[in-house]
Amino acid sequence: MQAGFIGLGAMGASMARNLHRAGLLAAVWNRTPDKAQDLAAETGCAVARDPAELASRCDVVVLCVSADADVLEVVAAMGSGFGADSIVVDCSTVAASTAREAAEIAAGRGAAFLDCPVSGGTEGAARGTLAIMAGGEAEALDRAMPALEAMGRSIVHMGPVGTGQATKAVNQIMVAGINQAVSEALAFGEAQGLPMDRVIEVVGSGAAGNWFLSNRGPGMVRGSYPPGFKLALHDKDLAICQQMAAEKGVQLPVIEMTRLHYSRLLEDGHGDEDISALHRTKRALFRED
Ligand code: NAP
Repeated sequence: MQAGFIGLGAMGASMARNLHRAGLLAAVWNRTPDKAQDLAAETGCAVARDPAELASRCDVVVLCVSADADVLEVVAAMGSGFGADSIVVDCSTVAASTAREAAEIAAGRGAAFLDCPVSGGTEGAARGTLAIMAGGEAEALDRAMPALEAMGRSIVHMGPVGTGQATKAVNQIMVAGINQAVSEALAFGEAQGLPMDRVIEVVGSGAAGNWFLSNRGPGMVRGSYPPGFKLALHDKDLAICQQMAAEKGVQLPVIEMTRLHYSRLLEDGHGDEDISALHRTKRALFRED
């Protein structure tokens, strides 16, 4: 298999490195060329001139770009390079409807499309331990499996195109609730004057223990929120979840509350911080002034 990668950001650069470690990475392309050149210098892969050239060199092209319009733009740009056996594996988080639209664009050029959003953060991307929620034809998924196995530990076929993204929406609502709970509880603990590293240690090994507490809690109690997962990107994901809930005539409290809190943080210029920056708003509740 010759695999290519588009979107060498916080997630994508590590995912591409894991394709390289598995001996699969043939070429990369990134909108900002420096990142592609750096990865090529590190791994020895080629830098494609544009997305179409990348598609023409590779059987499987993995994407991890920011948002819906970006996925549609990149899939359209690859079009003339697709061959009969091309597979696009989109690991970005976008709407299920966008996945279906991108799949139609790819199918119009003879390529298969899998929506394969991921969970596990930048740590999971670096370690190759992502959870991958796959939507699309089983036959294409089987063919793409070596690339997916290089990047993830748990790969689950959810159903047709779009079901991977719908599953990711479930995940993102849960992440919002966990962020609310952890950031609020830690701000409360600080206000009690507790030794917070020890709180994280003991609470993290009991029934309330979770990945976010162990991995983001220590930064939160130091007032440090490096990404990680950018707050602006999670807000984008929650807007997708909000729209999907609205289609069922429902407003979900965790989504509504988290988007309200995020909107204040975005206004104050914290969109490029990790989502754990929600802790700023919780800490502010306890400030005496
Ligand atoms: P990021 O660091 O901001 O990287 C985004 C990448 O997409 C960059 O390489 C960027 O290129 C590229 N890009 C954006 N728009 C593009 C366009 N129109 N055409 C071509 N390339 C474009 O974001 P990230 O954190 O890696 O996240 C990427 C995706 O994974 C998002 O959908 C996010 O929701 C999802 N995700 C993120 C995490 C996480 O923990 N970070 C976890 C799971 C899923 P430039 O270099 O030119 O800017």
